[in-house]
Amino acid sequence: MTTIADNLQQVHDRMAQACAAAGRDPASVSLLAVSKTFGPEAVLATAQAGQRAFGENYIQEAVEKMAALQAMGAPALQWHCIGPVQSNKTRLVAEHFDWMHTVDRLKIAERLSAQRPDHLAPLQVCIQLNVDGGLNKSGAHPEEALALAQAVAMLPHLCLRGVMSIPEPAPDHATQRALHQRARAVFDRIHASGIAGLERFDTLSLGMTADLDAAIEAGSTMVRVGTGIFGGRARPVT
Ligand SMILES: *Cc1c(COP(=O)(O)O)cnc(C)c1O
Repeated sequence: MTTIADNLQQVHDRMAQACAAAGRDPASVSLLAVSKTFGPEAVLATAQAGQRAFGENYIQEAVEKMAALQAMGAPALQWHCIGPVQSNKTRLVAEHFDWMHTVDRLKIAERLSAQRPDHLAPLQVCIQLNVDGGLNKSGAHPEEALALAQAVAMLPHLCLRGVMSIPEPAPDHATQRALHQRARAVFDRIHASGIAGLERFDTLSLGMTADLDAAIEAGSTMVRVGTGIFGGRARPVT
């Protein structure tokens, strides 16, 4: 269990170094611990080391983990859905998560808003962007993003917080940074557009274990780190 605490510290050190290199305030970048495929014990150990925000890709797995953690007496945690979601799973997301990073079409957003229970705060959402037109087909195209943002921002039980992307892996820092800068440019364009509902539009969900430094240089405000905290996963990422 010290391993997780040590890993967490190393990730924070890396984030601080990247912020220093980019001339940014370290408080401007938060860490999302991506716990997919890891059990509730690993999440609890991470929580005991001070981490509160966790990201999950597989909805059913996440919901079971949340219940297990509650039964284990874990502190209150914040849950972020970062995986692709089919229409038939939106209800579980609306009922159990605090954030949803992968809104890439209006239909999903409308379902999430309609299914968000009244007693919960609005679901905090990011628009997922496809910045490289790559094999990964999820994500709105940058040219569609403003219109999508405008429609999402009007939905009553959602709060539009920013953009997210998962570029294809790139081997070098400069390429990684250039891909993240495309998401940053879309964020800036939406921000400058003056559309209604941008009061809390402040989040760039960019960067994972391999490219968090380049993402921070490009303006990321939330890095999503799994391997760097929990180690390698047995199941492949989908
Ligand atoms: C798995 C995953 C991560 C974490 O990836 P690591 O390389 O393990 O840090 C981040 N974001 C998304 C969307 C993921 O699916």
